[in-house]
Amino acid sequence: KPESIDDVRRIIEDNDIEFIFASFGEVRGKSNAKLVPASQVDDLFENGVGFAGFAAGEIGQGPHSPDIELVPDPGSFRVVPWQPGLAHVIGDARVEGEVWPYCPRHILRRQVERARGLGYDFRIGFEAEFMLVDHDENGRLVVADRQDNWPKPCYDVKGLTRQYDFVTTLSRYVTELGWENYAVDHEDGNGQFECNVTFADALETADRAVFFRYMVETVAQQHGVLATFMPKPFTDNTGNGFHYTMSLWDRETETNLFADPNDPRGLGLSELGYRFAAGILEHARGYTALVAPTVNSYKRLKAGTEAIRTWVPVSMTYGGNNRTQMLRVARAGAIEDRTPDFSGSPYLGFAAALAAGLDGVERRLEVGEPNSANLYEFSPAQLRQKGLGVLPNSLIESIHYLEKDDVFREAFGKVPSDGPDGSPGGGFEDFVDYYARLKQDEFHAINDFVTTHEVERYLQFP
Ligand code: GLU
Ligand code: MG
Ligand code: MG
Repeated sequence: KPESIDDVRRIIEDNDIEFIFASFGEVRGKSNAKLVPASQVDDLFENGVGFAGFAAGEIGQGPHSPDIELVPDPGSFRVVPWQPGLAHVIGDARVEGEVWPYCPRHILRRQVERARGLGYDFRIGFEAEFMLVDHDENGRLVVADRQDNWPKPCYDVKGLTRQYDFVTTLSRYVTELGWENYAVDHEDGNGQFECNVTFADALETADRAVFFRYMVETVAQQHGVLATFMPKPFTDNTGNGFHYTMSLWDRETETNLFADPNDPRGLGLSELGYRFAAGILEHARGYTALVAPTVNSYKRLKAGTEAIRTWVPVSMTYGGNNRTQMLRVARAGAIEDRTPDFSGSPYLGFAAALAAGLDGVERRLEVGEPNSANLYEFSPAQLRQKGLGVLPNSLIESIHYLEKDDVFREAFGKVPSDGPDGSPGGGFEDFVDYYARLKQDEFHAINDFVTTHEVERYLQFP
C-alpha cells in the first residue's frame, strides 16, 4: 500500500502506468472519475482535478456552486488488474481548498479519527453478495444461470463451475490487488456469488468496496453478463447482502480489543465489544437508513419466508454463531452485522456503524444476554410480542428514525446550505436533514408511481 506520492511515482514507473482514474464517491454511492495521464501525476496530487459537483450527483451542490476539487489520497492508489497501463485512485472532495463537509469519505474519516482519539482503530471486513443477471428473449431480467430444480443452490459446485472463468478471474484480480481473497462461493440464489477478502482499516475497506463493486460489474460485462448488487432484484429469489464484520484494535500493540478468551458469555467477545454491539442495537432503526439506503433495501430486509426466499434478520438482537440475529458473533473478537446491503455509500454505512458503536462504548450501554433462538421462525408481530425490537420496514420509516437520532446528527455534522430564502450559501443544516430530504424524495419517486401490481389488486371490488 503506497504511503506517499513518491511510492505512487514508483508504482507508475514499475507498472508502466499511462493513465489514472481519479475518483470520488457522492452521497448515494455513485463513483465519479476523470482520466488523467500519468504524466500529470504531480499536478494531480498537488492541485487535484475539478468536477462540477451538481453534475456528479448528490454532494450538496447546485449548478451555481464552485467546482469540486478531487485531491487523491496516495494510500488508495492501485493498479487496475484488468487494464494494462491503468491505475485508480480515490480522494476527498474539496471546495475552494477546504474539505467539503458533504464528502462521504470525509465523514467516515472524521469518525475514524474520533475513534483513534479514544485509542481505537476501527477495522472492518465486508461480504459483498451479487448476482449475475441477463435478459431473456422477452427482455425480462433473469439470473444468468440455468435454473436448477434443486431447492438450495447455495455452495453448488456445478453452479460455481459454470461460471469458472468469471469467478477465477475475479479471485486472481483480488489477489493481485493484495486483498487476500480467501474464498469465493455460490450463494443461496442461482447465479449469486460472494467473494471474501480480509478485513482492514475502515477507510481502506470502504475504498476497496467501491473498487470491488466497479470491478465485479466490469469483469461480468467482459464475460457477457451483468453483475448486480441490488439488494433484492427478484421477488422470488434471495437478496444480496453486504455484511460488515467489525472490531476495534489497539494500533500500538496490534491487539484486537474485541477479543476476550475469558468472556463469561462464552462468545470470545470483550466488554468493549459488547458495548459496541449495544450501541449499534440502540441506534439500529436510524442506522438502517444508512446501511439499507434504498427503497429496494426493505424488500430484502424481511423476515424469512420460503415464498420470497429472503433470509435476513429483522430483529434488533445479537447472538453467537447464529445467522438469524441482526448481530452475530460468529467467531471470537468480531461482530458481524447482517443488516447492510450495497445499494449506497460504504463510507456512510461504515461511519454510521462506528458512530453508533462508539456511543455504546462511551455511554457504557449494556447489551443483555445473547439470543440463541431461530428468529427466522417468527413474524415481525411475533418478534414484538417477545419484546424484541424490529427494524424499519421501509426507507421512509428508517429515515423517520434517523431524523430523531442525535448521535447521527452529531456524527454526520453540519453542511453549508442555501439561505432560507433560497439564496445561495449563507446557511447551515445538519447533513442528516439533507440526507433525509434526498431519501424521502427517492422514496416518493418510486412509491408515488402506480404499479400494475396494485392496479390488479384495487381496480375493482370483488
Ligand atoms: N443473502 C443473505 C443477505 O441478503 C445472506 C446470506 C448469508 O448468510 O450469506 O444478507
Ligand atoms: Mg453470504
Ligand atoms: Mg455473512
